[in-house]
Amino acid sequence: MKEKVPELPEVETIKNELLPHIIGHCITGVTLIWEGIVRQPSMEEFRSRLIGQEITSIARRGKYLLFSLSSGDSLIIHLKMTGSLLLKPTSAEPDKFTRAIIHLNKGTSLFFRDPRKFGMMRLVKDDNSIVSKLGPEPLVPDFIPQVLAQRLNNRTAPIKALLCDQKVIAGIGNMYADEALFAAKIHPLRSGKSLSPEEVGRLHQAIQQVLWSAIDNKGASVENYFRPDGTLGTAHFQFQVAHRLSGKFCPNCGTPIERIVVRNRGTYFCPKCQPEG
Ligand SMILES: [Zn+2]
Repeated sequence: MKEKVPELPEVETIKNELLPHIIGHCITGVTLIWEGIVRQPSMEEFRSRLIGQEITSIARRGKYLLFSLSSGDSLIIHLKMTGSLLLKPTSAEPDKFTRAIIHLNKGTSLFFRDPRKFGMMRLVKDDNSIVSKLGPEPLVPDFIPQVLAQRLNNRTAPIKALLCDQKVIAGIGNMYADEALFAAKIHPLRSGKSLSPEEVGRLHQAIQQVLWSAIDNKGASVENYFRPDGTLGTAHFQFQVAHRLSGKFCPNCGTPIERIVVRNRGTYFCPKCQPEG
């Protein structure tokens, strides 16, 4: 079941908090404790093309972190279910879940910790090869309600599944899809094409509101998400329905929150506030 994954607010927080500590730093070494974390190219090439490069910028696209290097290469990191990137002194001992360490000059290193081993790193000449398949970013000025309407147009899949589809819209996963649908009062099984323009408008506003709020709270630490300094985010304390266990009640109307499975994703909603319609 795909449930607890760093989503846009978590990856955005990691990007924002890494930025001041690693821009302009040079990579002095790469330790691969679990070699499977490198998907592309070979380990030897990965290491030799990284060492000596300066990190010139970090960006986020969807749930991907993109590190630009002085060579023109991009290091792409996806944390998948349980990955985190921790900034520690180079002398720190890796724990048993540390899969790779990128050593930087000035005494710090980036520890890639990933208990479940789904996370990955790729080193590519052009990050478009990876990110061009993604749908629009939901927090950019160009993302207006009409863009969302166009992405949902003629789609028969449940809106919950569409929101989690990275080709439809980038960065949203299980938690923030549930939160946005609750805020917009839309049932998760409604088809994309069944939403009225007014509902799409509400959903657009709800998506931006839940994502910005979660960024303000530095992401949701529901499982293995840590900020780069090892502290937790607090966005999950704001959740209205996501990850509510059975027996919790809707904060609006007091109805018990229901859990259903939508395309293999555990989905929480209020049957009264979000009628099937
Ligand atoms: Zn309710």
